Amino acid sequence: MDYSTNDSKSTSKNKVVAVVGGGLVGALNACYFAKRGFQVEVFESREDIREAKIVKGRSINLALSHRGRQALKQVGMEDTIVSKGIPMHSRMIHSLNGTQSPIPYGKKGQVTLLMQRLDTPHSAETYSTTKLNFAHKLLNWSTETGAMTFLRADGAKEEIQADLIVGCDGAFSAIRKQFLRQSRFNFSQTYIPHGYLELTMPPINGEFAMKPNYLHIWPRNTFMMIALPNLDKTFTCTLFMPFDEFENVTTGDQVIEFFQKYFPDTIPLIGADALKRDYFRLPAQAMVSVKCSPYHLSDKCVLMGDAAHAVVPFYGQGMNAGFEDCLVFNEIMDQLNEDFSAVLPEYTRVRVPDDHAIADLAMYNYVEMRSHVNSKWFLFRKYVDNT
Ligand code: FAD
Repeated sequence: MDYSTNDSKSTSKNKVVAVVGGGLVGALNACYFAKRGFQVEVFESREDIREAKIVKGRSINLALSHRGRQALKQVGMEDTIVSKGIPMHSRMIHSLNGTQSPIPYGKKGQVTLLMQRLDTPHSAETYSTTKLNFAHKLLNWSTETGAMTFLRADGAKEEIQADLIVGCDGAFSAIRKQFLRQSRFNFSQTYIPHGYLELTMPPINGEFAMKPNYLHIWPRNTFMMIALPNLDKTFTCTLFMPFDEFENVTTGDQVIEFFQKYFPDTIPLIGADALKRDYFRLPAQAMVSVKCSPYHLSDKCVLMGDAAHAVVPFYGQGMNAGFEDCLVFNEIMDQLNEDFSAVLPEYTRVRVPDDHAIADLAMYNYVEMRSHVNSKWFLFRKYVDNT
């Protein structure tokens, strides 16, 4: 299917933008392009992710910061997302003996807002010029013709062309693979020795099992666990730990022993049986930092979000930086009259240094945390200061 116009005089009204990846950043991007009047086709490899209760292996709630809110505001999404968000007024530190100590955020009245991962795809569909194509996995695309090949759920392949390809397909971007073949494309990726695993703490008698408006933290030297509240009154507990340590825990009894030693107060709240089962539901997930440059390929393709800059989550800014990509791109579109041949290089020029700085800060935080293993405060302080 050829959606492209091949007409330099065509306006946004009849130009087609293909957003590959319908995650957080892809969905927001779809809103931005649709608001400008483009025909937007979003291609997402998963089935309709809004119907999934859990997006496998991904936290369902994320800390939304000022930069993320600004990006949502520009397309009128801030209020909707914020109204469904959960405000966190303070951090709650759980010590080994079960004592809980609140640490308020910096300024009086300052809160961190948690948003739900699946809220942005809903918003994208409110534009009549946007079509969400689920179960469309990008297999490949041609830098010469711009043709993209997708694998559909029925096993058929579909070829599609558009005027602009926006690669929002995450840290392991299939769109980015073609960039790797280009001369003078810089790319690096670094895995850290820590992994993460998510567990659910269910409600008790229909209510949150712990105080809800807090970021709960169990700092334990080389590892830590955090818990964030969800709208359904569960908590998502995320255990960050070196892979070596994960590998030492191989049986249900060892899980209980481990939790008894480090997080005893959580066993009755998560439930011993659930703990033994859910700990092994998914393997611990790796965390990768990806940097690349440039973010564009001619006037045909541009990378945004984790596809351009995956960061380790110890700064709480990955999604927020991706949202800001959309905002910055939109501003450049205004400045340069939607001329892709000028907008794309300018976006690279402006955005690469900022995104690389965020990736560096996130990695710096991680390294700091590891090198100050004997200082409980240092271990999590910077992480929580930014979330
Ligand atoms: P993704 O969310 O990865 O979405 C990419 C989409 O592309 C997916 O839906 C995927 O299915 C689709 N896709 C992939 N390949 C293809 C293909 N070949 N064809 C079609 N579609 C494809 N950030 C924050 O700002 N605040 C936080 O509090 C925070 N907490 C985090 C906690 C953890 C444990 C982790 C791991 C990350 C956290 N992040 C946080 C980072 C945040 O999750 C990411 O930055 C964000 O998800 C990036 O969004 P994205 O849309 O670019 O990529």
